[in-house]
Amino acid sequence: MPNKATQFNNGIPKVQFIDNRPSSAGRGYGVRWQKYSRAFIKKHPLCEICLKRGITTAARCVDHIRPHKGDMKLFWEKSNHQSACIPCNSRKAAMEEGGFGYKKKPETSGERILRLAMAGSM
Ligand SMILES: [Zn+2]
Repeated sequence: MPNKATQFNNGIPKVQFIDNRPSSAGRGYGVRWQKYSRAFIKKHPLCEICLKRGITTAARCVDHIRPHKGDMKLFWEKSNHQSACIPCNSRKAAMEEGGFGYKKKPETSGERILRLAMAGSM
């Protein structure tokens, strides 16, 4: 007797997919990442990108040194993480992948100016 889930998939039994739809958490940015990044920032409270320029700034997020582009292995690789402030993280993301996977979210005016500057004369 087929249930709704198997009918939905044209007979292909993919019941789990129904209850486990891809979301932002599916890209790695779920509760696990939030907990991880909070602990990481506690251990590394300063923006490491600013530090390299001799500036002391409080970190607000964990940056992926190499863009993970959906690669979960690279996403969770500890050696690929550094503390960053929001401006550094946004600037880096804009340069590397044009949005850090936040394409659906409206960008802030600051991010927009940065993006236009990157795409334009620079
Ligand atoms: Zn910074």
